[in-house]
Amino acid sequence: MQPVDVVVIGSGPNGLAAALRLASAGVSVRVLEASATPGGGMRSAQLTLEGFVHDVCSACHPMGVLSPYLRTLPLADHGLRWVFPEISVAHPLPGRPAALLGGSVDATAAGLGVDGAAYRSLLDPLVRDGEALFEGALAPLGLPRSPLVMARFGTVAWRSAVGLARRFRDDPARALVAGCAAHATQPLENPLTAAMALVFLVAAHRSPWPVVEGGTGQLARAMVRLLEARGGEVLCGQRVTDLRDLPPCRAVLFDTSPDQLASLGGPWLPERYTAALRRFRYGPGAFKLDWALDGPIPWADPSVGRAVTVHLGGTLESIAAHERAVFAGRHTEDPYVLLVQQSAIDPTRAPAGKHTGYAYIHVPHGSTRDATDLIEAQVERAAPGFRDLILARHVTTPADFHAYDANYVGGAVTGGVADAAQLFTRPVARLDPYSTPSPRLFIGSASTPPGGGVHGMCGYHAAGSILGRLGSLDARSPSAWGSP
Ligand SMILES: Cc1cc2nc3c(=O)[nH]c(=O)nc-3n(C[C@H](O)[C@H](O)[C@H](O)COP(=O)(O)OP(=O)(O)OC[C@H]3O[C@@H](n4cnc5c(N)ncnc54)[C@H](O)[C@@H]3O)c2cc1C
Repeated sequence: MQPVDVVVIGSGPNGLAAALRLASAGVSVRVLEASATPGGGMRSAQLTLEGFVHDVCSACHPMGVLSPYLRTLPLADHGLRWVFPEISVAHPLPGRPAALLGGSVDATAAGLGVDGAAYRSLLDPLVRDGEALFEGALAPLGLPRSPLVMARFGTVAWRSAVGLARRFRDDPARALVAGCAAHATQPLENPLTAAMALVFLVAAHRSPWPVVEGGTGQLARAMVRLLEARGGEVLCGQRVTDLRDLPPCRAVLFDTSPDQLASLGGPWLPERYTAALRRFRYGPGAFKLDWALDGPIPWADPSVGRAVTVHLGGTLESIAAHERAVFAGRHTEDPYVLLVQQSAIDPTRAPAGKHTGYAYIHVPHGSTRDATDLIEAQVERAAPGFRDLILARHVTTPADFHAYDANYVGGAVTGGVADAAQLFTRPVARLDPYSTPSPRLFIGSASTPPGGGVHGMCGYHAAGSILGRLGSLDARSPSAWGSP
């Protein structure tokens, strides 16, 4: 293989964002992807019937559309079209109208009854500072560009989501906080889970949470095309199993889980570092269903059809109970379901009159239990008649996720637990977490700051770390790199 400056292992959003930043700086870069198609968590496929396009992993993209790096890229010139819903999130509640998150803070507050004023006073200042807040939240830890904004955010964000939700008196506002915080895949009693809720709430007031026209895979395709236009290349069907097979290069970036950095990079890394990588905690897995549907989901409250993302699971208390149990390795009968109805706003996803549905729940790490009935029962409760519309379903278990993408260890889909202990030490406590003790090896996957989601910021910061060190490195075959 031809020598190259930087080899990137993995073409997820972080691998591609890193490659784009490197290529834009004039560095030659080659991305090696194990799968037959690029994209990692950004892929779509015909999982059920002909004519139906399903998002295999990521589906809704509040982080993607607001990402300080992705939004600077001319991805629209390479085919990316975001499709925006009227409402970002609907949260059905038993026996009363659904809570709706979207539009202006005032519009959301108006639906929250007794909690409207409290919602306004919490969100108004954060939304006003939204731009700086996103820059800060998606920056490497410890380096906020707007320290005052981040300090103000920190006074509320450090606490637990349960604590934040209990500022409100009634179920709708509390449930909105719980549904957003539960994306964190950890007990809602944990410190800092309020931050996750706030970031998603603020995001919804800055831009409705979009899906990608034609499927999330179109985002990957646009990133690859832009990368190629900037001189980079992506080679698929190239699982890296030994770094000594790589071409001569100056550095290697892992868009992988820490365990792969430990095993593949082992010969060049000190044992204390690889041991720390192996102690990384991945957290709960995901169990997912995709449906081909004979019509739109028949929500009991029709306003739920105005949203593309739906949080099911009822009150703060029941969502918190599910997330707590799953984190402790137990199943529940009343899961929090994250549902996306892409075809409600993107008609390219299904034949005329038909629809797609996507839903997953968090389950214990490596769980082998079939959760199909649990998920469908939860949807049916909020949308009686839903089951009658199912033309076909596709099931993805935690083991399937791990086989599909080696980064999803035990089916964990967020790049590893982001609790207070690991948020600041992803993947290992270091001043520059993207660097490793080997001057030539770097990591920039979702297991580094700022963590999971399709925003590309881990890769972007990792590329910055590489650019700062590349000058002192020559291109040579990994077998000639020498030992740690
Ligand atoms: C079910 C599910 C739903 C999600 N929903 C959302 C959502 O709605 N919105 C959102 O923002 N995020 C969502 N996410 C999270 C998001 O997809 C991930 O956080 C993101 O994709 C992580 O990006 P990454 O670049 O770090 O790694 P990945 O996207 O996992 O990409 C890593 C790539 O590296 C490749 N690879 C691994 N090992 C090797 C090797 N040895 N050799 C070569 N290639 C290798 C893999 O095949 C993969 O293509 C979801 C994830 C899942 C699984």
